[in-house]
Amino acid sequence: MQQKRKLLKGGIIVTDNQMYKSDLLIEGEKILQIAEDIDSTELTAAQQIIDVSGKLIMPGVIDPHTHFQLRSRNTITADDFARGSISAACGGVTTFIDYSDHLPGLSLKEAVNRRIAEARDQTVLDYTLHQTITHFDNQVSQQLDELLELGINSIKIFTTYRREGYMIPRTEWEQVFHRLRELQILPTVHAEDDELVVRREAEYGAKDQCSPEMHPKIRPAESEALAVEEIGNLGKKVGLPVYIAHLSSQVGCQALQRVKRAGGQIYAETTPHYLLLTEDKLLEPEAQKFIMTPPLRTTQDRQALWEGLRLGEIQLVATDHCSFTLEQKLADDNCLTILPGIPGSETMLPLIHHFGVGQGLFDYPQLVKILSTSAAKIFGLYPEKGSLLPGTDADIVVFDPVKSVVLCTEMLHSAAGYTPFDGIELTGYPIMTILRGEIIAREGEFCGQTGYGKFLKSSVSCLYCVE
Ligand SMILES: [Zn+2]
Repeated sequence: MQQKRKLLKGGIIVTDNQMYKSDLLIEGEKILQIAEDIDSTELTAAQQIIDVSGKLIMPGVIDPHTHFQLRSRNTITADDFARGSISAACGGVTTFIDYSDHLPGLSLKEAVNRRIAEARDQTVLDYTLHQTITHFDNQVSQQLDELLELGINSIKIFTTYRREGYMIPRTEWEQVFHRLRELQILPTVHAEDDELVVRREAEYGAKDQCSPEMHPKIRPAESEALAVEEIGNLGKKVGLPVYIAHLSSQVGCQALQRVKRAGGQIYAETTPHYLLLTEDKLLEPEAQKFIMTPPLRTTQDRQALWEGLRLGEIQLVATDHCSFTLEQKLADDNCLTILPGIPGSETMLPLIHHFGVGQGLFDYPQLVKILSTSAAKIFGLYPEKGSLLPGTDADIVVFDPVKSVVLCTEMLHSAAGYTPFDGIELTGYPIMTILRGEIIAREGEFCGQTGYGKFLKSSVSCLYCVE
């Protein structure tokens, strides 16, 4: 039996290096052909022709930093795998990368399998995982081998939250890096200097100055710069590429540049909130809605991040989607204990399109690179994901570049029940999301099936090929 075909007719193909008018034919789960004027008479009535005249056809967005269904601080995030992935799908995302925690009493392999079991039958998007490592010994060192067999090629480490038990002691970092280098596993790093943060916490805590607007003073940009530089230099010493998660500041960008100039292989993601929001939000009523770690910073920091993105010093944008309901967020007004994190996956593409391409900072191919192709390459999912090559997964977002939208909670799908980007007027919005040949969202509404998403085994990061 012939597989189902879908013909996207009259659109504009955008990849990370080209943009041209063409039709695109999907067969089953794969892209079959990209060509001008594909003959539609061969398609039988049961097969679909979709008119996408004037619309952009881009590889599905990859959000390589999400926390769906995260258990933390005696609670759980608002979006479980189903709800979180549905909301992301409505914003043009087709693949996400979430985290498997380093759980006490479980081997890394067991932790990964438990996490996959939670996502299975729930997620509507394809996904893979980063494995978090919070301590290191011979046993953990051996267990890293098993991650590769499972198709996990990146880990997450923290340079802060030592007291909370997330941080591997500094004295062991080099040993960890050697092992990662040996296995060609990519470290993704939450970079803030723990000693500086702990000192500030004690200082401000003693004076009882812990309202939301104090958060950027307690977790200052300098702590990010210190950690980026330390991790970057250690990576250079060991010959290991390092990837900085959620870069938030100008001094962080400068530290990145220094490491790079000295010959280090250092890469980074930033997020829509660091690009678009500032610490002024922490002076507003319900400021808790804007608490995440690292904190929001200044206009100057925002501009430095856009510049880093434009120049390719920052490789990509991810969301760090970690949603809590208003009730969860507003339950506390101490910035040290407010549940940190905000929703973001659904709004990433339209925001970065509007403020990046729309304001002339970069072009459409670079948008695709920043939101899809770079993540696919860095996290070992390319070309199946992040490309429009014939023979690969038909993961596609159809984007209307002139559609006007004012972001508001009611149109979005996260269980958070609010958006930190409320009221922002945008030009351009995704109108269709296709995952492995199936239309899963249309005009901002989900129309796919829960559980359709599958776990992806990743390969070694492309960053190991740029020696
Ligand atoms: Zn995170």
